[in-house]
Order: sequence, then structure tokens, then C-alpha cells
Amino acid sequence: MSQDILRPVRGNEIEKQAARRRTFAVISHPDAGKSTLTEALALHAKVIGTAGASSGKANRKETVSDWMQMEQDRGISISSAALQFDYRDTVINLLDTPGHADFSEDTYRVLAAVDCAVMLVDAAKGLETQTMKLFEVCKQRNLPIITVINKWDRPGLDALALMDEITERTGLLPMPLTWAVGISGDFRGVWDLRNDRFAQFKRNNAGANIAITEYFTPEQALENQGADWENAVDEAELVIDSNLAFNVDEFHAGKATPVLFSSAALNFGVKEILDALVDFAPQASPRPDVTGETRPVDAPFSGFVFKVQAGMNKAHRDHVAFIRVCSGKFERGMVVTQGRTNKSFATKYAQQVFGREREVIDEAFPGDVVGLVNASSLRVGDSLFIEQPVEFPAIPLFAPEHFQVARSKDPSKFKQFRRGIEQLEHEGVIQVLRSDIRGDQAPVLAAVGPMQFEVVQDRMEHDFNAPMRLERLPYSMARLTTLDTMPVLANVVGAEVLLRSDGEYLALFNDIWALRRIQKNYPDLVLETIGSERPQF
Ligand code: GDP
Repeated sequence: MSQDILRPVRGNEIEKQAARRRTFAVISHPDAGKSTLTEALALHAKVIGTAGASSGKANRKETVSDWMQMEQDRGISISSAALQFDYRDTVINLLDTPGHADFSEDTYRVLAAVDCAVMLVDAAKGLETQTMKLFEVCKQRNLPIITVINKWDRPGLDALALMDEITERTGLLPMPLTWAVGISGDFRGVWDLRNDRFAQFKRNNAGANIAITEYFTPEQALENQGADWENAVDEAELVIDSNLAFNVDEFHAGKATPVLFSSAALNFGVKEILDALVDFAPQASPRPDVTGETRPVDAPFSGFVFKVQAGMNKAHRDHVAFIRVCSGKFERGMVVTQGRTNKSFATKYAQQVFGREREVIDEAFPGDVVGLVNASSLRVGDSLFIEQPVEFPAIPLFAPEHFQVARSKDPSKFKQFRRGIEQLEHEGVIQVLRSDIRGDQAPVLAAVGPMQFEVVQDRMEHDFNAPMRLERLPYSMARLTTLDTMPVLANVVGAEVLLRSDGEYLALFNDIWALRRIQKNYPDLVLETIGSERPQF
């Protein structure tokens, strides 16, 4: 059963560095344990001395990502950043994804920047709605997925029932890498199938330290675990018999998913997750550009902006553009070209940012994430390069479902108002729509989730000193259209056409009935679904 993957060690410095990179994100439903697992992974890699207590967010030390006041108040994580650590001979880049569905557009952008995803499942809940939506995005991007069944220390569902659910709902064939010994609620350890041994876990300092792990042969395990060991082996073998033994190609092709069991809170099974990432997750590999050509990892430096963030930290009021390095070696201070504008950009302030932690970064390789500070000219989706130009595919905008008119509360602050809206739009916090009828003073803000408006309002007031009023519009759906539609719908109730800043005309409708009525009355209008290939969050 043991399968060693031979990673290429040949090649030049950059190829070797790319081969060492594992860049991934954790996708899960809120509360499945993403933050806890992130800390546990970092703990194993010795980044954080002691993981937060298992009592969750409220009591956790300031280790992970919650930085905006709003996030702290609500206990949700809105902003994205990347945690980097060394483990064995690899460099692991773990990209944080926002926990709330209203920020799914941000999550989508993060998933454009990773090579693999860990799907974290709460053993008591199975595949929850947000997990499924994120899974769909991963599937569209052909991202290989590792499944982790978490919280096995608590009573939950039956392991085989969970495997059935995975197969039925994701179409992925589960390939166990570890299998829990002891039912959920009585987590003794795992059968480590690769090494055919029993890894027995014991709590260490109430889960604050790496679990104490002892290894036993199957014979010893049978002796000291009895029926629990036999059950684990029987169950795992049943899954393998009906699916397939572990096969890395099926995993990379998005047909099968390696499965592991964990208790992130107790640090059980976490080392096995890291080992799976190192041994099986795809390395940073050549990325296709807009024409479909791939830029080799050892080509001159290139990357793209997948996230722009500002106001992340009261102590650092600045903009950080997060770049995923696609090729070449990034060196701090190098002057790169911004593809969209063809302008030069000096990368003097390059940092690694995770939560409140910031560190100057001097070099980075394919798969790494670089945070460029004071990067207000950079926008989500921008390609950066040196020497040979490259344009990476745009990160598509989601179909907005919520629309509000924004107005400056104080007319004398219109300049700040305009600047703030423009900046937030560039950061991808909100989409901005305009029309001559509504005028420049009252742009329409369009969002995927209503919480985006709260972020905009907070940022406008605190970062741009331009408090604003919002007024809800009755629309709930948008379609791509053309300029000709504008006069046609000008006098139609329940619809309106506006121009988005990326040059697309959006027709907005109160509801599906309004849309259908208009389609019937004006069959020649172009009304295309936005990103029909993408799931709606
Ligand atoms: P997130 O919303 O996915 O980031 O979830 P958190 O990491 O904040 O975890 C949510 C809650 O579940 C917290 O109270 C955690 O302490 C708890 N939790 C996370 N992992 C485990 C686990 O493996 N076992 C148990 N019993 N609780 C866990």
C-alpha cells in the first residue's frame, strides 16, 4: 500500500524551488475547524509555539487572521492572507479564505491562486452547504481535493456513511490515507495505510501541544485495540474495495480524493495531513496564460494579483496587493511591469502577511504569495512580470444580487467619497455601476452578499473620511447586456441598465418574473447570464 512519489530533484534552482512548493487553501463550512486546523498545521511546523486553547475563537490568542473590528465583533474572518512555513523538505503556503458566504467572491479569488484544496468536514455534520459551494468552485478549477474528516473526538456520523455522502454528493471517490480507530467520540488513533501501522494519539496539554503519538504494528494494534482495530481495517478495506487503492493520478485529475481523519483541536492526525500534502499535493507548476500557453516555472518572474486589501491593521493603514508567484524568482526591490497599464512597479515593500504578523520578504518562488505594500495602483487580476510579457486569465466577477445607491453624507466631501468608492472597487470589495440618469453623485454599489456593504460603509467612514448613506434598490438579479438595451428598459418598471466600470452593461431586474416578462416582451434583447459556468453562492 505504501507508495512513494518521486519528486523531480533535477532542474535549475527555480524548478527545484517550485517543486518544493505546496500551495493550498482549506475549504469548509463555518465552524468546521478551519482556524483550528490552520493553527494546528502551523504548530506542527513550529511556527506557533502553542496552539490556541481548544475552546475556540473567543479565547484564542492573537495568532490567526481576524483583524478588522467587524470581524472580531462577528467572529468571522473576512480578509485573506497567506501563511508560509517549512515542513520536511517543502515550503507550505496556506492561503486563508473568508469564512462567510457573503465574501465568497474573495474565496473564489483565493482559489484561483492555489494548486490544491483541503476540504474540511465536520464529522457530525457531513458536507454542509458552504462546503459544497466551495467544492463546486474547486471542481470548475480542476483543483485536486484532499478530504479531512475533523472533530472525530466528538460523537458524529458513521465513517462509512460519510464516505458514501462524499461519493454521492461530490462524485469523488474516497481513497483513505488514514482511517480512524475508535468510533467518532472515541478517537484512539488512525490506521496509517501508507505505512501500515497504527498511530495512537494521546492528548498533550489539553490539545495545546502536538499530540503524543506512538506507533504500533498491525499485530500490536490488534492486541491492544481489539475490535476497534479490526473495525477500522474492515471499514477502510471496504472503501478501497469499492473504489480504488490510493492513486495519485486520480487525485490530481480531480476524480478521487485522499481521505484523512483528524481532531484539529487535539492535534490528532495533523502530521498525517501535512505528510499527505508534501507527498501527494501538486507542486507549483506552469500556469496557463490567456491564450492557453503555459509559462514555464523557470521563465522570468511573473505573477498575478488575487487579492487587494486595505485597512487590515490599524497600525498599518495601507494597501496590500497579494501576488501569487507563477514563474521565476521574485526579489524584493525588483521593478516589475503591470500588464494592464504597462507601467513599472517597484517592489520595495514586499511582505509576507498573515493576520497581524508581517515579515519582510526578500525572495519568493513559484507557488509563494507576496504581499506588496503601498500598492494602490494594483488591482485584482493584474498580471505582473519582468522581461517577457504575460497576461494571466482574468478572475471573473460574480453576478451581484444586492444593489444599493451610495451618496456622500456630506456634500463637501464628495472628492473623498469618489476616491473611496474608486479605491474599494479596485480592491474588489464591491462592484460599481453607473448611468447618466443617476449621475456621478449616486453610483450603484453591487454586491454578492449584503455584508460587503457594511465593509464599504465602515471603510468609507474610517479610511476615507467620507461617511455615506446607502439606499437599497429592489433589484435581485443581473444579466449582461448591451448599450442598446438601455433606452428600451428606461421606462420599464422593475428593470434598469447600468454600466459597470469594467465596461460591461448590466441589466438589473427585480426578480425572475420581471426578467421573464421583459424577455417575452422584447425577445431580441441580449440578456446573458453572468458567469453561467460559476455556481451562485
Ligand atoms: P472555523 O469557523 O472553521 O474557522 O472553525 P474554528 O476553528 O473556529 O472552530 C469552531 C469550533 O469548533 C471551535 O469552538 C473549536 O474549538 C471547535 N473545534 C475545531 N476543531 C475541533 C475538533 O477537532 N474537535 C472538537 N471537539 N472541536 C473542534
